[in-house]
Amino acid sequence: MTTIRLVQGDITRESVDAIVNAANSSLLGGGGVDGAIHRRGGPAILDECRKLRASQYGKGLPTGQAVATTAGELDARYVIHTVGPVWSSTEDRSELLASCYRESLRVADELGARTVAFPAISTGVYRWPMQDAARIAVEAVHNARTAVEEVRFVLFDDQAYDTFARQLGRQ
Ligand code: ADP
Repeated sequence: MTTIRLVQGDITRESVDAIVNAANSSLLGGGGVDGAIHRRGGPAILDECRKLRASQYGKGLPTGQAVATTAGELDARYVIHTVGPVWSSTEDRSELLASCYRESLRVADELGARTVAFPAISTGVYRWPMQDAARIAVEAVHNARTAVEEVRFVLFDDQAYDTFARQLGRQ
């Protein structure tokens, strides 16, 4: 059984085995949570991302997939980078968003991580509506077959926190 915890705040301050990054497919960093992780985690993360690009992901990490690097100076053992889908009002991309959570947990299992922190993937620059993103995130974790003991959703603001709390029936 995986326990779900909700936290409001900055994911780069969390102490867990693995922090999930809402990366972009280039793996070369960006804004939002990605920028924050690279800023606080230091250059070791980007170094490994560059190596991954050179060895496996020359065309970029595909949407819905996940890959791990060191966590650099963060209080974690790994950063798991996953690429969320950009929100579309004409195409249902929910399966890709669910895949981000599933694949990140699969990578976490491979690494033996027991505690994993997730941001609300795709809800920033990629514009996914928070309520729908929260539903998909919670369902994906509930349905995952994983040895991860604790999934911590780290929500940046009040509104995101309240939306996840409602989704979990905790409010
Ligand atoms: P995406 O490109 O997947 O939409 P963003 O980083 O733009 O990724 O946003 C994803 C979510 O992460 C948004 O809800 C945003 O408010 C939130 N966020 C931004 N910075 C942080 C942070 N330091 N810790 C946790 N969540 C963050």
